[in-house]
Amino acid sequence: MKITIVVDNEAENGLKKEWGFACLVESNEKVLFDTGASTEVLAHNAEKLGIKPQAIDKLVISHDHWDHTGGLNWALQNKELEVYILGSFSSQLKQKLSGFKVIEVKGLTEISKDIYASGPIESADKYRLYEQALLLKTANGVVIITGCAHPGLEKIIEKAKQLGNVQAIIGGFHGFDKLEALYGIELIAPCHCTVRKKEIEKMFANKVKKCKAGLTLEF
Ligand SMILES: [Zn+2]
Ligand SMILES: [Zn+2]
Repeated sequence: MKITIVVDNEAENGLKKEWGFACLVESNEKVLFDTGASTEVLAHNAEKLGIKPQAIDKLVISHDHWDHTGGLNWALQNKELEVYILGSFSSQLKQKLSGFKVIEVKGLTEISKDIYASGPIESADKYRLYEQALLLKTANGVVIITGCAHPGLEKIIEKAKQLGNVQAIIGGFHGFDKLEALYGIELIAPCHCTVRKKEIEKMFANKVKKCKAGLTLEF
């Protein structure tokens, strides 16, 4: 399985950066996870990386925040696209998806071979926000991809363990501070909104992969 970071707060030369997150998983099918904050950046980076909207089979949206849904129109150029959302998403967003095959994920669901949507995980803060993560089953364990991780990374790790040992974790970690939950994970790539990026990089120096648009990882 190949993972490509398409949009992030950081970017390789030639790619654009913005406050947002999108990444592509390529296996039997191509699955896009989130769409960044704008069509402009997603379209620019996707073109540079040789990714066409028509080639994407499935889109999973982690949560209904602008920095993850802003590039949606780029993905929706593909009229065959299947979109995996949560029931809690706004009616505005759902309306935008009318005419597409939309699946409301209610619990851990295999959406493509060895690729799972976690289903809604609730945040413990006052916002009571629901978010889903993407979980990949590989020969060496589970790879977690998160959007913002509002519910808390430790909750997402717990969910992922239902599929096996967690091998890697990539994406936005948000305000996550229970860093000991990362012990034993072989590859850690804090992206996007990770508040404690510096601390994580220091504590897990030999495991951290610097995240930026253009980074590819193979599992
Ligand atoms: Zn968010
Ligand atoms: Zn975000």
